[in-house]
Amino acid sequence: MKIKTLEDLLTDELKDLYSAENQITKALPKMARTTRSRELRSAFEEHLRQTENQVTRLEKVCDELGISPKGKKCVGMEGLLEEGKEIMSNGADPSALEAGLIGAAHNVEHSEIAAYGTASAHARQLGFNSVVQLLDQTLEAEKMTAEKFTKIAENK
Ligand code: FE
Ligand code: FE
Repeated sequence: MKIKTLEDLLTDELKDLYSAENQITKALPKMARTTRSRELRSAFEEHLRQTENQVTRLEKVCDELGISPKGKKCVGMEGLLEEGKEIMSNGADPSALEAGLIGAAHNVEHSEIAAYGTASAHARQLGFNSVVQLLDQTLEAEKMTAEKFTKIAENK
């Protein structure tokens, strides 16, 4: 699609996020199965449930704006998840594997934090206050998830 206005840009960002979140719902179960740390596994499983809610929340946002969330692939997230897969498949020893998984998860969360922060700022500029509220709910959850991964990494 052509991006001419800030509203077009927000639409594009929301489609990108929707694709990213859907890719993450597919990647998290594999990450949970791969880790041997019970703590990390439960963090991945909990975040899978949150991510499913985030997908629904984006559908709500797009519904409010009268747009479809579908139709775009987030190639940035595809790349980050591809790097995560590399870590899982390159035969790292257990502690390197755990550290690598946490690093991959952090990359994903920080990418989402940046993207939700940007979309929320653009929605605010456009005066879409209920959309801002919904996006900020997810933004906060992503920040808390990133902090949780930091704590798990520090406890090792
Ligand atoms: Fe998310
Ligand atoms: Fe996330």
